[in-house]
Amino acid sequence: MVVIYESTRKKIILDPGHGGKFPGTVEGGSIEKNIVLQVSQRIRTKLVNEGALVYMTRTTDKDFGGTTAGTDINNRVAYINNNIPASHALVSIHVNAIGGRIGSFYQQNATASKTFAETIQRACTPWFDVFGCYSADFAILRDTTKASAKSLIEIGVIDDYELNAAWKQERIASAIVDGIRNYLS
Ligand SMILES: [Zn+2]
Repeated sequence: MVVIYESTRKKIILDPGHGGKFPGTVEGGSIEKNIVLQVSQRIRTKLVNEGALVYMTRTTDKDFGGTTAGTDINNRVAYINNNIPASHALVSIHVNAIGGRIGSFYQQNATASKTFAETIQRACTPWFDVFGCYSADFAILRDTTKASAKSLIEIGVIDDYELNAAWKQERIASAIVDGIRNYLS
């Protein structure tokens, strides 16, 4: 096995979207907040095994005390900016609603983040039917100040029940870790 992070430990912020009283998108027994936490924990394990330092915005089913989904995201942004050290990359994990796009998103006009999102897209493309790379305007990308390379990843659509399966979560996590490693190494 190649030691990827041997010269300097890379610091990565992992943000499982939603949580607590804000479940995200829900379809049947599939609940976004649970899937993205499970996938984020798989990503964390892989990154830590490669020597990275990983900071997670949540490791349990919790929200950030907002009264609406919007204010909760603002609280999440403040938590990152106030509590997490400056890092090399930030990845926010989500599942899209039915009809939504799958892929890596970057904040519009953010050059490093565009390259980062494109690198993740290339790593994920072999494992997904369609995995795009899109410009967006999301608070978690726009307003966080702790990393220059930031991407929000929609790992699938909520009516894909296999997103709950360990094998699929592992495949997704491995592809995302490949993308992070390719960008940072
Ligand atoms: Zn979401």
